[in-house]
Amino acid sequence: MNLGISANTLGTPGNPLQVAIVGSGPAGFYAAEALLKLPLTVHVNMLERLPVPFGLVRYGVAPDHPKLKQPTLVFDRVARSPGFTFFGNVTAGRDVSVAQLQDSHHAVLFAYGAERDRRLGLANEDLRGSHTATEFVGWYNGHPDYRDRSFDLTNEVAVIIGNGNVAVDIARILAKPIDELRKTDMANRALDALEHSRVREIHIVGRRGPVQANFTTKELRELGEINGWYPEVSSRDLELSAICQAELDPKKESTAAKNLEVFRNWSTRRGTATDKRIVFHFFKSPVRLIGSDRIERIVFEHNRLVGSPFAQLAQGTGQTVELSAGLLFRSIGYHGLPLPDVPFDESRKVIPNDAGRVSGTVGLYTAGWIKRGPTGIIGTNRADAVVTVQSLFADLNQLPQQPKSGSQGLAITLKSNQIRVVNYEDWLRIDARERALGELKGKPREKFTGVDEMLTAAAS
Ligand code: NAP
Repeated sequence: MNLGISANTLGTPGNPLQVAIVGSGPAGFYAAEALLKLPLTVHVNMLERLPVPFGLVRYGVAPDHPKLKQPTLVFDRVARSPGFTFFGNVTAGRDVSVAQLQDSHHAVLFAYGAERDRRLGLANEDLRGSHTATEFVGWYNGHPDYRDRSFDLTNEVAVIIGNGNVAVDIARILAKPIDELRKTDMANRALDALEHSRVREIHIVGRRGPVQANFTTKELRELGEINGWYPEVSSRDLELSAICQAELDPKKESTAAKNLEVFRNWSTRRGTATDKRIVFHFFKSPVRLIGSDRIERIVFEHNRLVGSPFAQLAQGTGQTVELSAGLLFRSIGYHGLPLPDVPFDESRKVIPNDAGRVSGTVGLYTAGWIKRGPTGIIGTNRADAVVTVQSLFADLNQLPQQPKSGSQGLAITLKSNQIRVVNYEDWLRIDARERALGELKGKPREKFTGVDEMLTAAAS
């Protein structure tokens, strides 16, 4: 019986489906996992700008939350699968063009995340002492791009703008006892700076209310459990309008309802005179950043919420309030960046797509934050990547059918462009070296924070 399958049918050992994935964070690895589970012969070639894999898991997850890094166990299993090749230290769009990737692959899947901070759009945003969340998170996590940043922790007051989990991470890292942080894989420079921190007041400011905040309850609650610190919230901010109440009512078990319970509990607590404080402010938008050569004061405008349930927006009332602070963290979310020759939606800052198929193209796909925007937790990217891979599988007949050179073709292109590729075995050497260095200090690992150091360890 002839099933129409020949030695050259796409997805068979004679003509494996060759897919290049750009980005080695959660979205990239979950897409690779889903691709390698397809009932086809598939080869996945993953490109990563840094010599080390795992993106947001290595550089975004807070060091004191090691459990959230456990997905790397899955990623490692995927990376060791037959048919998977890692190309670290390779920047797509610079070291190899998208057209070259398409020449050597049947499909290219973009999963390079959303690494740029949103901006407030205020004058003085870049004054000394005013930082983006990315800078601070990248610094304490030892990201090569941010390792040399410095933060003046001699200031007693820090303000964090934004009501998301990154704001909570920043507050917790600023507040947590140094002895607890020393047991984590936090970068040494950050540990040394935090050891001498004089910060004793952290203000977390949201433009909308407690019901609209994006905190997950577990992370929020942790801020009330830090020795020597107490959380403060005004009970007035917890009085709900009918519309806010309507947002809670249908889902009594919602995160917002649980968060509100935590806030209500905190609003009745009082710390001692020696306690340091984490103060939550709601319904306030920053309108002016004041300082001569560094940030000194932040003016906030009080907001009221307008709009229907689940679509309420902050509207200024004209009334203002000022906070004096020498340290400001803008933690208001991220956005994606375009890649040369790939469609980009400038207003949403994502790659436009339909269920992961890049709009107006054949053979281009996308997953993760660059597909849908910077939302959700790490696990959200698994289901999201599966959707994209299902689209790719359904499109199999529309993809180029002739055999593609895959990893061999890619390796030749990179060699001719004189790129020093870091493969997965190289990463395992870096990994082993980092763990060994960490062990000497009672840490899970001591990350290399410079690309040169990583390349040296890879070659050792
Ligand atoms: P986010 O959850 O989107 O929060 C951004 C916050 O910034 C929101 O409160 C938003 O308010 C506010 N904002 C935006 N523009 C503003 C402006 N112009 N002025 C004042 N406030 C403004 O972003 P994120 O905290 O960066 O987190 C990104 C993603 O990573 C989230 O999905 C988060 O859950 C995830 N994450 C998870 C964990 C974890 O699971 N442990 C840790 C870190 C991050 P509006 O709501 O009014 O827009």
